[in-house]
Amino acid sequence: MMQLSTMAASIKPSATLAAGAKAMQLRAEGVHVFDFSLGEPDFPTPEHICQAAIRAMQQGKTRYTPAGGTAELRSAICRMYQRIHGVPFSPDQVLISNGAKHSIFNVLAALVGPGDEVIIPTPYWVSYSDMVEMTGARPVFVPTTEDQQFKMTPEQLRRAITPRTRLLMLNSPSNPTGTTYSREELEALADVILESHIAVLSDEIYEHLVYDGVKSTCFVGLRPELKERTITVSGVSKTYAMTGWRIGWACGPVPLIKAMANVQSQATGCPNSISQAAALAAIEGDQSCVEKMRRAFEERRDLVYERLSRLPGVSLVKPTGAFYAFFRIADHFGRTLGGRRITDSVTFCEAALESSHVNIVPGAPFGAEGYARMSFATSREEIEGGIEALARFLE
Ligand code: PMP
Ligand code: GLU
Repeated sequence: MMQLSTMAASIKPSATLAAGAKAMQLRAEGVHVFDFSLGEPDFPTPEHICQAAIRAMQQGKTRYTPAGGTAELRSAICRMYQRIHGVPFSPDQVLISNGAKHSIFNVLAALVGPGDEVIIPTPYWVSYSDMVEMTGARPVFVPTTEDQQFKMTPEQLRRAITPRTRLLMLNSPSNPTGTTYSREELEALADVILESHIAVLSDEIYEHLVYDGVKSTCFVGLRPELKERTITVSGVSKTYAMTGWRIGWACGPVPLIKAMANVQSQATGCPNSISQAAALAAIEGDQSCVEKMRRAFEERRDLVYERLSRLPGVSLVKPTGAFYAFFRIADHFGRTLGGRRITDSVTFCEAALESSHVNIVPGAPFGAEGYARMSFATSREEIEGGIEALARFLE
């Protein structure tokens, strides 16, 4: 038996991707699954974006691009931040990668290592903690509660910072809670950061998916001094229904972006050339598709919130962004449901899948035992049918 590396041996598979794979397997066996596991839009990628990819192939854009992404796409991203947020980036401050997930990994690989601490408010997106551990750094969790809408307070942040802290990972709108920090709340966090020595990774991948007139904030734009300390991460996956195209980016100080580009040039090389052409069309093209999808998500959010709130022993904060409902299920622990004794979020979700074919993700891998996550990036019929099945499961 080959001995695995210490790093590989300590890593868990991504709980969201594992839950998605379970649904795929059941479907292949002919079972109808109410699948609320993966956070990916169910819409097809808009036609003009697909056409741009076809044109790219026909024009022979099928070779390696510069390792950090094409000059055209990097410039387009700069123009976009200027247009939407009034934040100026230059192309040498931008690195294109294979999805925002890859961007986040590159940030961590270039910035932290053994002996360093990285602050992660909980609940957090499943991959944050494992990625930090892969670098040898230590995740330091700051627990937030439903009562505080799962938002970290400035005081909590101040208390978590030690001389070893290198980075704070922020995610607003949030996966898995769906809550969005207001501009004022982020300013208060920014002040604590600027009193200290730490850097911030601001994961803004859900910035265009906000509801009830809520506005997303580009963190780095809050204070001029944040420029030297902030890495902004985003991508096309969620905004343009392009999860499989694998294009994300990071924008930040030039020396860090250069270091990340070195990591990327040795590990994976350039992102897919055709996908970069498609992402360029997405960013530069007609934006009406974004608003259309956003409105559909908002309607589904209304439906999910209304139906989930009615379930016995369930509570949740109304999501104002992303496409997740994160609901409390702890009142059901100790019961027998679907023939199984429910002891935690994992057994709850396993029983819901086995007995009712409802696929949701347990809160534990998000650092929030007692909760479950439902992605509502799926049709109204599935949402209605799935929550009805969940209601019967809880009876
Ligand atoms: N950040 C968050 C919070 C996410 O939910 C996701 C979802 N996949 C990502 C980053 C990465 O997205 P992608 O790699 O598809 O760009
Ligand atoms: N971010 C999505 C989710 O949380 C996609 C899956 C993943 O990459 O983890 O479901």
